[in-house]
Amino acid sequence: MLSVTDLRDLSPSPAELNALLPRARVDLDAAIDVVTPIMEDVRSRGREAIAEWSRRFDGSAPEELRVSPDYLNRCLDELDPAVRTGLEIAIAHNRAGHRAQMPREVATEIVPGGIVRQRWIPVRRVGLYVPGGLAVYPSSVVMNVVAAQVAGVAETALVTPPQRHFDGNIHPTIAAACALLGVDEVYAVGGAQAIAMLAWGIDDGEAPIAPVDVITGPGNIYVAAAKRVARSVCGIDAEAGTTEIAIIADDSAHARFVAADLASQAEHDPAAASVLITDSEELAREVDTELEAIVAATRHSDRCRTALGGPQSGILLVSDIDQAIDVANAYAAEHLEIHTANAEADAARIHNAGAIFVGPYSPVPLGDYVAGSNHVLPTSGTARYAAGLNVMAFIKPVQQIHYTAEALAELTPHLGALAESEDLPAHGEAARARA
Ligand code: NAD
Repeated sequence: MLSVTDLRDLSPSPAELNALLPRARVDLDAAIDVVTPIMEDVRSRGREAIAEWSRRFDGSAPEELRVSPDYLNRCLDELDPAVRTGLEIAIAHNRAGHRAQMPREVATEIVPGGIVRQRWIPVRRVGLYVPGGLAVYPSSVVMNVVAAQVAGVAETALVTPPQRHFDGNIHPTIAAACALLGVDEVYAVGGAQAIAMLAWGIDDGEAPIAPVDVITGPGNIYVAAAKRVARSVCGIDAEAGTTEIAIIADDSAHARFVAADLASQAEHDPAAASVLITDSEELAREVDTELEAIVAATRHSDRCRTALGGPQSGILLVSDIDQAIDVANAYAAEHLEIHTANAEADAARIHNAGAIFVGPYSPVPLGDYVAGSNHVLPTSGTARYAAGLNVMAFIKPVQQIHYTAEALAELTPHLGALAESEDLPAHGEAARARA
């Protein structure tokens, strides 16, 4: 089911290795060309444009863009109790995980009487994107909202595509998750039209929607492209596009666990990537056999088969675990699982991954829902420099400087000398004026 690339006995250069890795051919530039006119249209025509684009891409548009509080509360009342408990556990675990990320304010006395305080200030208003095309993701409501709430964000506007099976309203489980988290500014709009609405706001006098300071959340290529366009007017988080999983496994790995996890991510999207990196030909064979059985029996069999058979998925055979780690670092997977005899030590050698799942009992689906980690993670190799969604996406580090007259006087000659060297004498004058 998975194609095999044999990297044993090869010592490729970084560029050669990159070319050998199974990777989706994502043409973000083409998607930017598609979304730019949509965003311009929303910017100039507001709600009318949003309704037209929603009808075109989502097959329906809501009567009211803003979801009514009644609908949110009703969906929570009618939510399956088992799903409600699952969401409550996900929320509690995510709060604990995100609280641990909060940086502390520190005041440093640089010289006697001269203090630099490192403050962390939350942005005021954020836009959170929750995908809703092929699948719906109430879990992404939790991931976005909890991180923003723990960071101390005051205003949260959440967007998610209208669903034609629900008369253009948002999916009931997403609505229930919003109500559970106390988010009441929710809009039934998706894709580039949603990102444009968040970035520029709508000021048509009817019920103005204020622009946001930061937009976060995962989505398909059009959402990722629209976030890049919006970056000219607001902050964005990392590009969290089509799901990827890479698994490093040796002959100690349990083939069924590995296969189950590869299939679990393939069910997200026909374009999802599932990659096994192993030094064991026998494990590779066993995993492929297990995958056949799992995919044949699973509900989204066609989607999984397309994803696993695509050029973005495959098995990479390596000489040993050292090479596996080099390959994983070059690939920079969104999710990386490690199923080796020395999993914890091997994990310590990974420097490029969105999130690292260590050992046989830490599968990616645990992180998708209830591990306490965030599932909005960088894709397409961007984990080389980008991080998963975390509280820092919503917080600005700001330094606050407070010196006494004496502390300033001590430093004035040095400040003045440096100012003269830069031919900026008024800088020195400003300090000497206080002497
Ligand atoms: P989505 O909400 O991201 O996209 C749906 C929207 O795409 C539609 O509302 C429409 O406006 C727009 N669109 C569709 N076709 C278009 C076209 N031809 N031109 C312009 N716009 C178009 O939902 P989705 O499509 O189901 O994608 C969700 C993605 O998010 C999946 O690939 C999934 O793997 C990914 N995901 C990633 C993470 C992560 O952290 N990386 C987490 C959850 C989900």
